[in-house]
Amino acid sequence: MTEQVRAVRASAYTIPTEVPEADGTIAWDSTTLVLVEAEAGGCTGIGWSYGAAAGVDVVQSKLADLVRDSDVDAVPGTNEAMRRALRNMGLPGIGATAVSAVDLALWDLKARVHDVPLHRLLGTCRDRVPVYGSGGFTTFDDERLTAQLRGWVDAGIPRVKIKVGESWGTNVARDVARTRLARSVIGADVELFVDANGGYTRKQAVRFWRTVSDADVTWFEEPVSSEDVEGLRVVRDAVDADVAAGEYAYGLGDLHRLAPVVDVLQADITRCGGVTGWLRAAAVAAGGQLQISSHCAPHAHLAVAAAVPNLRHIEWFSDHVRIESMLFDGAEDPVDGELPLPERPGHGMTWKAADAEKYRVA
Ligand SMILES: [Mg+2]
Repeated sequence: MTEQVRAVRASAYTIPTEVPEADGTIAWDSTTLVLVEAEAGGCTGIGWSYGAAAGVDVVQSKLADLVRDSDVDAVPGTNEAMRRALRNMGLPGIGATAVSAVDLALWDLKARVHDVPLHRLLGTCRDRVPVYGSGGFTTFDDERLTAQLRGWVDAGIPRVKIKVGESWGTNVARDVARTRLARSVIGADVELFVDANGGYTRKQAVRFWRTVSDADVTWFEEPVSSEDVEGLRVVRDAVDADVAAGEYAYGLGDLHRLAPVVDVLQADITRCGGVTGWLRAAAVAAGGQLQISSHCAPHAHLAVAAAVPNLRHIEWFSDHVRIESMLFDGAEDPVDGELPLPERPGHGMTWKAADAEKYRVA
């Protein structure tokens, strides 16, 4: 007998950062997490997204009634119904983050109802998932950047990423100095990635990469805006580093357009449609002979990252690592650069409601 979803709830929490953070094109001093809880068969599944508290309204006003009474086992069908329901409201952006959080909650719920780990429900290709350290915000002084990079290297993480493209590419000299500092801190054997968040122009990106050729940068993320699809192709063809993009993909069409112009496709489970969407994103990448790397929300990606053969790694994003460690039980740390797969039901994460209450905004 199949179970039906009995209730869907959403809430939002805004957590201040320890210090102001910025990348190439935006600055922030807090991060908002939208939590979705779905109940069936005496179990509660949880999903989440990072974005805006407005996601709570989308879940409550457009999705909750649709999902209630749906078959717990029929998540892809429910996902499709949710996407269709947001057509006129606007699916890309906040709509897609809401669908993604509900989808993740429903897959977690299905696995809990069947009393199996989510990665076992999906089927696995590996039993450990490689990560890369990610942070290196442009607001950090040299001391803070050095400490963060040393922390990852000392923990055995063999690849790290810093932000460049400061202030929309208007401080390239500092980008260059920070990139060289990062290389000197991590030594020769750790991979160095940079992420411009679309802050450079096309030729500026190529000039930056050539200037730091001594720093052996092997990953150049969003050297130009992901809206400049041809620009990504131009930079990809001009540099030896792998060019990566895909974090703002809210659906498969976005990923299909980016796949031909990147070396590695990125996808964010909290934006591209949850578990259902991310597995398909990996298939889009595979069709282009590409690997996929996940964006942000590391613990939300663990099960899907284990389930696809063409995984490169997942992003151990410092801002979200801190939040997930604070507000979830079961958020484990990597060992020698790899995350173990939890053998608990669902994705293995439990919300610490009492600890989170002080951050609640919706
Ligand atoms: Mg990025």
